[in-house]
Amino acid sequence: MASLNSFNACQTLVVGNRSYQYFSLRAAEQNGLRDVSRLPYSLKVVLENLLRNEDGRSVTRESIETFAKWLEEKGKTEREIAFRPARVLMQDFTGVPAVVDLAAMRDAVVALGGTAQKINPLVPVDLVIDHSVIVDSFGTPKAFARNVELEYERNGERYRFLKWGQSAFDNFRVVPPGTGICHQVNLEYLGQTVWTRTERIDGKTVELAYPDTLVGTDSHTTMINGLAVLGWGVGGIEAEAAMLGQPLSMLAPEVIGFKLTGAPKEGVTATDVVLTVTQMLRKKGVVGKFVEFFGEGLDHLSLADRATIANMAPEYGATCGFFPIDQETLSYLRMSGRADDRIALIEAYARDQGMLRESGAPDPEFTDTLSLDLAEVTPSLAGPKRPESRAALSDVGSAFLGALASEYKKEDGLGQRYGVEGENFDLGHGDVVIAAITSCTNTSNPSVLIGAGLLARNAAARGLKAKPWVKTSLAPGSQVVAQYLAKSGLQKYLDDLGFNLVGFGCTTCIGNSGPLPPAISKTINEHDLVAASVLSGNRNFEGRVNPDVQANYLASPPLVVAYALAGTMAIDLTKEPLGHDSAGAPVYLRDIWPSNAEIATFVRDQVTRNLFRETYANVFSGDAHWRAVEAPSSETYAWDDQSTYVRDPPYFVGLQREPKPVEDIVGARILALFGDKITTDHISPAGSIKAASPAGKWLMEHGVAPADFNQYGTRRGNHEVMMRGTFANIRIKNHIMRDAKGLTPEGGLTKHFPGGDIMSIYDAAMRYREEGAPLVVLAGAEYGNGSSRDWAAKGAALLGVRAVIAKSFERIHRSNLVGMGVVPLTFAEGTGWDTLGLKGDETVTIHGLREGLAPRKTLVASISFSDGSTKTAPLLARIDTLDELEYFKNGGILPYVLRQLVP
Ligand code: SF4
Repeated sequence: MASLNSFNACQTLVVGNRSYQYFSLRAAEQNGLRDVSRLPYSLKVVLENLLRNEDGRSVTRESIETFAKWLEEKGKTEREIAFRPARVLMQDFTGVPAVVDLAAMRDAVVALGGTAQKINPLVPVDLVIDHSVIVDSFGTPKAFARNVELEYERNGERYRFLKWGQSAFDNFRVVPPGTGICHQVNLEYLGQTVWTRTERIDGKTVELAYPDTLVGTDSHTTMINGLAVLGWGVGGIEAEAAMLGQPLSMLAPEVIGFKLTGAPKEGVTATDVVLTVTQMLRKKGVVGKFVEFFGEGLDHLSLADRATIANMAPEYGATCGFFPIDQETLSYLRMSGRADDRIALIEAYARDQGMLRESGAPDPEFTDTLSLDLAEVTPSLAGPKRPESRAALSDVGSAFLGALASEYKKEDGLGQRYGVEGENFDLGHGDVVIAAITSCTNTSNPSVLIGAGLLARNAAARGLKAKPWVKTSLAPGSQVVAQYLAKSGLQKYLDDLGFNLVGFGCTTCIGNSGPLPPAISKTINEHDLVAASVLSGNRNFEGRVNPDVQANYLASPPLVVAYALAGTMAIDLTKEPLGHDSAGAPVYLRDIWPSNAEIATFVRDQVTRNLFRETYANVFSGDAHWRAVEAPSSETYAWDDQSTYVRDPPYFVGLQREPKPVEDIVGARILALFGDKITTDHISPAGSIKAASPAGKWLMEHGVAPADFNQYGTRRGNHEVMMRGTFANIRIKNHIMRDAKGLTPEGGLTKHFPGGDIMSIYDAAMRYREEGAPLVVLAGAEYGNGSSRDWAAKGAALLGVRAVIAKSFERIHRSNLVGMGVVPLTFAEGTGWDTLGLKGDETVTIHGLREGLAPRKTLVASISFSDGSTKTAPLLARIDTLDELEYFKNGGILPYVLRQLVP
């Protein structure tokens, strides 16, 4: 697309013997965009995006001028802009439904008289299959092979479908299972920092250079911000729109500058830094904002450390956590095997654009700043339920005991232990039953992985063993990790402690921790024990890691190993021994903790350019299992009515060329009343499917035995399972179910009114559908926190939910609701369903949708109570932009895009 180039910014950059066209910020500044060289680096990337995509419609001269105004207003004034990412990254949990939607769009476009080939990604899309491997087998050298076998047995149908997608769609690549985790593969291989493509400009074919940017269907897409690639997580629905050439509509953000000074002390890891940063930014409140790191402390963070910090942006609530290009970026690109001419281009481009951080350069201007002296960071863990609940290592034991009394109400059971059938050990509260080195957050960082290996070596030298009740696992984010751990000889020490390789994928981080040994699970459940997990992941919400484990702690990989040795959370590892050596002498954590210098030496010697180049040489080929997958080749997909994994979704049934007019929501029933911080995992769980749940029943009716249910996350290509799983999290509390004592039971139940019959939320929704009653869901603050999960919006829409009314929304989930044609509404400040006195048996009518609907319009709800009384309440429509309004009027983003493509 040729830009209108109002600021005469299109220039030529010559690097070596190659020449590139690019949109120069310097030229734009000279031609009227005042002082944009003082913008934060992340905003320079957004500004370039607009200059290059100025089409006079979605991007106008005025919207580009937003950036000159930004310096005066610092993003405080809401200004809508349209952003076009260079590419899209997906993982398989979200990728399968996205490809299902694309396949369904092909059918729909054909049904409306168009051609299937109209539906193709217009920007490069990479899908990395990483979310499906489960830790069934562990603690043995055969664990990896067995888990891969089971993965293919369970997912053969999904993988066939993805292989079909790979051949059917242009611009669509699949990184096969067993290669690595999407964000780590992105960091180590896919990300380019500066992207190029061939384009026609003024009748000439040119090579266009521009910043690498992306959106990903996983919230931790932000890891790549560590490599100065701007990107963040979006719902699958928005990602599909981006793939199909729609701009991403957003508000020009506030940018919070996070100043880092000093250097981390001996024994402090990048994980400790990110847990500290997360706690600080949560306190500050950065939801919906960009965070950009600056200051001389950056000189003491490796690129992998930066990626670890960037990865957890969703946990600190920011849209992204950006690190600018500097010499460390270039060194990492070199070390990870990127081509020399690309690195030369990146350096020249960044320097010319004022995007290169060099010492002595003035700091950019930010909306606000905060700072951290890295020397102040101490070893830490975060838990038991939230990533921002950080405790210093020395306080973790006492904090756990505090939580046992206050959160879990179990102080009476403290110290009681229960025998485990067939074993010679017993279990009590706080015992660590899972210790998992997992997650791209840490496995992309060689220093913490090598640190874990060295700690294992030192522990082995003192004769220490992991406690026998701990399920230990190592799931690296790429094969590079396995290579350097093996080459350095450290893997064998990890093996000795049970940290054998279990797979290349997310595993425990996404809840695929696999079942605990049956006798351990039985003891925990029979005695309602608060068992613990320690994982090097980034999410520890209730119910996510394992259904048997209530307390979940995030920690660096070396600390994961240490807690496997200790076997309990009720310990102060800074003072108490981890265990005893063969001579009976106590061994303390400090005795076996490796020095920073030793870790650095191992990293320097073992993590090499050749290792990356060899590992990624055949990244798209896959192993023998993948090559053996047979996929159909056809333009449209031949849906299989018998499939329990991939089914034709109902989104386009009866779609007409013109959308129906929007109507008010009249006499809606309340499906659920939720409290604060309902996560997308509560709304649409990714983990195990219970046999007694509506989803479990449907699977059994379709011939699937409970042992073969697999996880919800793997069934996202099947709307029948997913709509039944909506609001089915075992820990969700629907306050319609509140009893006379004011207690609300856990689980996805509700009451169907007016009778008040108790049933699953799914069954109630279906009964309301038969009765023709529209539905609303009412919630507290931060509704939709957690991973971006488009099924949290799709599921609600398919259940018949027309509006979600909450105190506030998480950014991605709000836009996903709009993308599915569900209107997000917020209560007036200081009010909520509780202050309005709602119990769930009321009906709700929402006025103001039919006439004059506009972004952020104030609407009115009239509520009819069962005693005949009524109340009204003002509501703010969180349809934030004109594009979103169009999506909503069309019944969602996919019908909108489809209507644009039909002649
Ligand atoms: S689930 Fe965990 S490991 Fe997987 S992509 Fe997300 S953050 Fe990374």
